[in-house]
Amino acid sequence: MKLWADLGDAFFAWLKFPKIGVSLRFQWTGFTAPKEKNMPPEYRYFKPEEVVGLDPEYVSKLDMATAKTAELDPNGKRTPFFITSGFRSIDKNESIIGSVPNSAHTKGLATDLRVENDHEAYLIIASLISVGITRFGIYINSAGAITHIHNDVDPDKVPEVIWIKGEGKPNSDPATV
Ligand SMILES: [Zn+2]
Repeated sequence: MKLWADLGDAFFAWLKFPKIGVSLRFQWTGFTAPKEKNMPPEYRYFKPEEVVGLDPEYVSKLDMATAKTAELDPNGKRTPFFITSGFRSIDKNESIIGSVPNSAHTKGLATDLRVENDHEAYLIIASLISVGITRFGIYINSAGAITHIHNDVDPDKVPEVIWIKGEGKPNSDPATV
């Protein structure tokens, strides 16, 4: 009788095995789900290290905008967005000549994008407008050439503005940047 009991146990253990496998899979799924939520969002054109401290929703807009430049360019060439200044700590912001204390950069809602030529300046601004960004600062060097375009999505600042700023010079309107 002992033998039959042992065989019975083994049989039931074998029967149970697939069920254990299934329940483990469920456990695994449950375990990974919250982890995935904490993963940084993936962007098509930005590496995580390029956008540290920036608002993910804002970076998604930049991602869409750089893709849009290929549609706007007659040759279909995408303009890569080089972020020369993104998120700034309050301390770092204060050390920059011409920055403002309540800069959108300190909130992770602004970037300065490098501009190589006038056509690129057009493509960057047009593409950013197409994704709903409405605040622009055009930075010019001493020769009057565009070097950077500041853009931000700070809801505390006045929308639909474009201002011009000489590099390293104080802002004419502290409320703008
Ligand atoms: Zn800026």
